[in-house]
Amino acid sequence: MSKSPANYRPETRLVHSGTLRSQYGETSEALFLTQGYVYNSAEECEARFKGEDPGFIYSRYSNPTIAMFERRMIELEGAEAARSAATGMAAVTTAILAPLKSGDHVVASRALFGSCLYVIQDLLPRYGIETTLVDGANLDEWQRAVKPNTKTFFLESPTNPTLDVLDIPAIAEIAHKGGARLVVDNVFATPIWQSPLALGADVVVYSATKHIDGQGRCLGGIILSSEAFIAEHIHNFMRQTGPSISPFNAWVLLKGLETLGVRVRAQTDTAARIADVLASHPKISRLVYPGRADHPQAALVKKQMRGGSTLVGFEVKGGKQGAFRALNELKLAKISNNLGDAKSLVTHPATTTHQRLKPEDRAALGISEGFIRFSAGLEHADDLIEDLTAALEKA
Ligand SMILES: *Cc1c(COP(=O)(O)O)cnc(C)c1O
Repeated sequence: MSKSPANYRPETRLVHSGTLRSQYGETSEALFLTQGYVYNSAEECEARFKGEDPGFIYSRYSNPTIAMFERRMIELEGAEAARSAATGMAAVTTAILAPLKSGDHVVASRALFGSCLYVIQDLLPRYGIETTLVDGANLDEWQRAVKPNTKTFFLESPTNPTLDVLDIPAIAEIAHKGGARLVVDNVFATPIWQSPLALGADVVVYSATKHIDGQGRCLGGIILSSEAFIAEHIHNFMRQTGPSISPFNAWVLLKGLETLGVRVRAQTDTAARIADVLASHPKISRLVYPGRADHPQAALVKKQMRGGSTLVGFEVKGGKQGAFRALNELKLAKISNNLGDAKSLVTHPATTTHQRLKPEDRAALGISEGFIRFSAGLEHADDLIEDLTAALEKA
């Protein structure tokens, strides 16, 4: 008996799930770069619009290449349904905003990607949606923040950029007891190392721009959840407001998924080696790596993640000046604000991704002036270690 792709192991699903072959029997998934579709008759067209005929109508709604990308993600993540979006932020904004109305309340962990923080802190209140930010690692704060009108909990884990790990099952339980849903931004963990839906979350969002493309080419995002959540809250909102992904970008991301497992594993192995070298380096005052025994939530990492991270966080002695000198001395790793790429990328969060925050808020999140986020790429680990140690030598 032949297996359905969903029954294979994740590596196999990443290569085969969701493939829709055309009449030409192509090996590689086809790119259907089309806005619309033609019908054989007016009757067929009417049936399509009534939902009685399952075909495609318009690429703002759906498209065969986009459907392949969504199906492959659904089977990888163990979700029932998904909708892809033009960017990670389109996915995050839609997942949070679409189900809510004025008078509702959202609780989110304070340690968020800058644009996610904008949505929670600035955008939602303008539409009468109350928000509360909590220290995500403190379960009592989540509990105390719950109100009768709380509808959504939102978090990222590991967090950006300090790589704290939040207790997804415990936070999901608090959300559900309070009648709310938990939305998890799983970008830093990747679908390879963490499955939030299996841990109790209701909705998972990705910026596919990061590891899923993984080669710095295009933007994309996706929302994964139950069929009911998509049908009730997401389906119509996305059709009518149109934050849709281009079929071209969906095709790039679909092909990116084929190599996601090998890339994330190799990048994680490299990040772990870098973390071990930096842990005892005399120019480093703090090192955070979710795969090490000295990570503040090491037990939780073991419980809810299958692997460490492609990212390493560390603090260079000498504050901003020390960090800048190290960054400027790097020859191989590139200064950038992106992550999850085949090329190693280094970021100084205090002056880039988190420069909008007040200094005291940055300090509370552990983002010091000397803090650097290193996204390990696919280069040889020894070349990266030599690059980093030479740069630190001069810092
Ligand atoms: C990059 C990122 C986003 C936003 O994704 P885009 O594709 O750039 O819109 C959201 N959340 C996290 C954690 C990210 O790293």
